[in-house]
Amino acid sequence: MTIGEILARKRDGGELSAEEIAFFVRGIVDGSIADYQAAAWLMAIFIRGMSRRETRDLTLAMRDSGERIDLSDLDARPALDKHSTGGVGDKTTLVVVPILAAVGVPMLKMSGRGLGFSGGTVDKLESIPGFRTELSVAEAKDQVRRIGAALIGQSANLAPADKMLYGLRDVTATIESLPLIGSSIMSKKLAAGAERIVLDVKAGRGAFMRTRQEAEALAALLIELGTGAGVPTSAVLSSMDEPLGRAVGNALEVAEALCLLRWPDTAEPVFAAFCRDVAAHALVSANRAPDRHTGGGLVDELLRGGAANRKFAEIVAAQGGPAAGDGILAALPRAPIERAVSAPADGTIVALDARKIGELAMRMGAGRAKKSDAIDPAVGILLHAKNGGAVRAGDPLATLHIRQSDAARAPAFEADLLAACTISDDPKAEVERFWSVVP
Ligand code: URA
Repeated sequence: MTIGEILARKRDGGELSAEEIAFFVRGIVDGSIADYQAAAWLMAIFIRGMSRRETRDLTLAMRDSGERIDLSDLDARPALDKHSTGGVGDKTTLVVVPILAAVGVPMLKMSGRGLGFSGGTVDKLESIPGFRTELSVAEAKDQVRRIGAALIGQSANLAPADKMLYGLRDVTATIESLPLIGSSIMSKKLAAGAERIVLDVKAGRGAFMRTRQEAEALAALLIELGTGAGVPTSAVLSSMDEPLGRAVGNALEVAEALCLLRWPDTAEPVFAAFCRDVAAHALVSANRAPDRHTGGGLVDELLRGGAANRKFAEIVAAQGGPAAGDGILAALPRAPIERAVSAPADGTIVALDARKIGELAMRMGAGRAKKSDAIDPAVGILLHAKNGGAVRAGDPLATLHIRQSDAARAPAFEADLLAACTISDDPKAEVERFWSVVP
């Protein structure tokens, strides 16, 4: 078997065997296959696609390309993992993990950093002064044993083949391929050792998948790959046309999640309802509730009784952050400039473009255009009105939290925010509504 034969077969639309796929994955990790050959392979797959069987074999080969974490020896089981395909203002993990851990569902949650318009949970957590996301797997597991959850960055040796291929995909226009996305996501999830996986697959302007049909196809593939590998996997589909909740930007998002945990009745209602749905679904998946209705009731108890908030404080303290809930809020960094943006006209907000708002947050310093960029944890956008909201000219629309070095750019940021917001005075105009479904 040679790499040349494998490339030629895929180029001509043939199907690769499990052995050929394993040979390729081994070759990229041990360096015997060059980047230019891997890039050609990716492009051939992008154009020719992969059968379900090939996609499964690629997922398993990438899962096995590095460390595999074993969580089957924890006292509490099953260990659960929750994964979002990414969006703008998505701080759901910060709420759902402590809810689940508070009823004894073990969660060793590995998350990524943000790139482009899309945020990352590790960046959000690192806006909490002192918070360590770089625990070793052994340390994280020990913490899960003691307090039920750990929130960490991805271990360097988890699915290294995916890391290499993803880096190449990023620069060879081969990201948007269903088999490559599916195998990339699930190889890491399966290597991380959870016994149940709950996926949040997002669709819309601020998501990888632009349409609901695309998101449905991705969810079906991810469920098949997870369940086929022996890990019961389910998904929630949700819209990502407007940012989730009010905050976009790392410390601002942590504050919003903390406020939901502490004062659940005052949270932005769509964000609160979505976290409740995902947590209820995960409770069913982890055998802690017989159905989602009962799970939702349990979530309400855990939030209103303060157990989820106490669990989050416990996780933060265990990972080096401030000691208690109030301490966390007070310790979060604040940007020196706060610029209010007002509604330019009377009407109803019919669209708040998540991608434009995510890109604006990135330009303000909350995100990265490329992996090596530094971020400012304090900056971002707080939305005071959401889709469907009625506004009068002059009403507060948003507050921009800006770093000192960007003071002169504040008017441009304000113009960008207004360009992302559509206000209509037509009573029949269609409003972009949030939706979420379990397929
Ligand atoms: N997230 C991943 O981990 N991989 C992809 O290919 C896309 C999103």
